[in-house]
Amino acid sequence: MSRIPAKCIYCGGGPTTKEHIFGRWMRKYVRTFSPTSVHCTSIVKDHKTNAGAAVGWRPRLNRNGAPHSHQLKIACRPCNNGWMGNFQEEAKAILPPIMNGTWPRLSRHSMASLARWATMVTMCIEFAHTETVAATLDERTYLREQLNAPPNWQVYLALYKGVRHAGSFWHRAALFEEPINKNSGAPNMQATTIHVGHCFFHVLSAPVDLLPNASDFEKTLGMRQIWPIPASEPQATRYFTDAGANRVATKFFADHGVPTAPHLGMQSAPAAWLPYGRDWVHPDEGSL
Ligand SMILES: [Zn+2]
Repeated sequence: MSRIPAKCIYCGGGPTTKEHIFGRWMRKYVRTFSPTSVHCTSIVKDHKTNAGAAVGWRPRLNRNGAPHSHQLKIACRPCNNGWMGNFQEEAKAILPPIMNGTWPRLSRHSMASLARWATMVTMCIEFAHTETVAATLDERTYLREQLNAPPNWQVYLALYKGVRHAGSFWHRAALFEEPINKNSGAPNMQATTIHVGHCFFHVLSAPVDLLPNASDFEKTLGMRQIWPIPASEPQATRYFTDAGANRVATKFFADHGVPTAPHLGMQSAPAAWLPYGRDWVHPDEGSL
């Protein structure tokens, strides 16, 4: 079952309060097609037997309102009004030109700010369906205490000129282990793609040995690594098309041999697929 946490997902305190996942400030920058949002989740626990498959139950964010207006009740007021609010303020100072399609000068400080904002949004998004939570409490505690994305998280940024995914996000989670333990629980890796206006973030987390080499990954796909902070300032990307954005969103799991469409199942894994907006978006073949 997908249960709403009673305590703050970051500090364990309470009570939790309703807050905007993306920050209310973002709404005016994000173009959406529809006053409602489609949120679908596919969970397949064993891709060979299809055991535990459940598709299309009523996910939490399938509701009226554009995706970026959505709220989740997962964090306490001191966290929301404290460090999380500070992350929003920092992002608000840096993100608007990028959401309008202009690549900025990216200082080390601004990369860290964008990365921790995207990490926070990802850690919150996961709780739209708790079976897809891959971040550990230790990782959330790290973010809250160190005020930076954990070292086993990678964050990439790219410009986007497509239409199909505007105002959408995808979150995929999976459990990878060898040998497969049928009794194991939570996913241990996730890939989240967050579209905000004319840019998108791609956020990966996993045990370190499952993560891609960040510089190879960005070169192959054409986005720019912003976390861990790269040695030199990232230069503007090309504008990604819808197909290019799909390629980014699916690459990490595809590289591990996991089918990326929801009906295809996952490797002994809860798998989440949360497209937003008017379409149910399937991963397309194609290139930039
Ligand atoms: Zn808290």
